[in-house]
Amino acid sequence: MPDEPDTVAAVDWEALQHEALAAIEAAATLAVLDELRVQYLGRKSALKLALREVRDRETGMALNAAREAIEAAVDMRQRELERAELDRTIREDKVDVTLPGRLRPRGHLHLTTQVRREVEDIFLGMGYEVVDGREVETTHYLFDALNMAPNHVTRSPLHTFYVGGDTVLRSETSPSQIHTMEAKQPPVYIVSLGRCYRRDTPDATHYPIFHQVEGLAIDRGITLADLKGTLRTLLRQLFGADREAKFVTHFFPFTEPSLEVLVSCFQCEGAGCSMCRHSGWIEIGGSGMVDPNVLRFVGYDPEEVSGFAFGWGLERMAILRHGLPDIRDLWADDLRFLEQF
Ligand SMILES: [Zn+2]
Repeated sequence: MPDEPDTVAAVDWEALQHEALAAIEAAATLAVLDELRVQYLGRKSALKLALREVRDRETGMALNAAREAIEAAVDMRQRELERAELDRTIREDKVDVTLPGRLRPRGHLHLTTQVRREVEDIFLGMGYEVVDGREVETTHYLFDALNMAPNHVTRSPLHTFYVGGDTVLRSETSPSQIHTMEAKQPPVYIVSLGRCYRRDTPDATHYPIFHQVEGLAIDRGITLADLKGTLRTLLRQLFGADREAKFVTHFFPFTEPSLEVLVSCFQCEGAGCSMCRHSGWIEIGGSGMVDPNVLRFVGYDPEEVSGFAFGWGLERMAILRHGLPDIRDLWADDLRFLEQF
């Protein structure tokens, strides 16, 4: 063929196609494949130049067939390499779910709240009901109904916060006993825990706000032995199974007899230390058999039912149990202190 350019005639197209397909098959990366695409199919490739120059139909068809075969091989190899690339990415970038995550600092309940819930749980376990009280009370419920004499010292505005008239912030949780007994008939087994307020100057053992747990049990045939057994159980659960309880006669207006409760010192085991003031015993709080006057006041018949009551400070329990030097730490909101418990 005289008008055929030398370039077309000089090339062994079958060998070129064979060589191209082998190189494409062997291409290990997409970058190599791109170079091969340019080399065999690019505008300056021998095939493209020849196709531009070819005149006879038979050679043209052969060159086109070679081009299509090479293009198909490049496309196929490209899909293979892309899939392999994807597999590798998935394999290498996979998340190891067993690695520990970044932990955020986690808060916890305030020590007073911990003790409060612990006491609630102990009494729930003994079949008691937890009832809410009122922080704002009347002098009727805080004093009169609790058998407090008209001249009793706690009625003084120097002792109790008066909101106005006969409205006061409760100085103890005892009014919740009266509310409960007014609302229901015996048997009554309740504890009521919450904030109380007194005009105390803050020092190591006093703070104008504090928490009390109030307990009341009214039923037929309740005796002093029930009071002692119940409070001994509470003390042992709070301060340790080996603790002994001691009950010393005292006076409170709404109980008769009234008993101060002491627990054997858990720091010195009775040998004597600063916590127990070298007596071997630590004062916990007041208790007693409910005065018949209080029962009559709420319409109960003291000939039919009897009961015991107690009111203890939760902060006192917390500082005793942890050997804390100052009750004010419980109100200071200092994380360095609170994080220890
Ligand atoms: Zn001691």
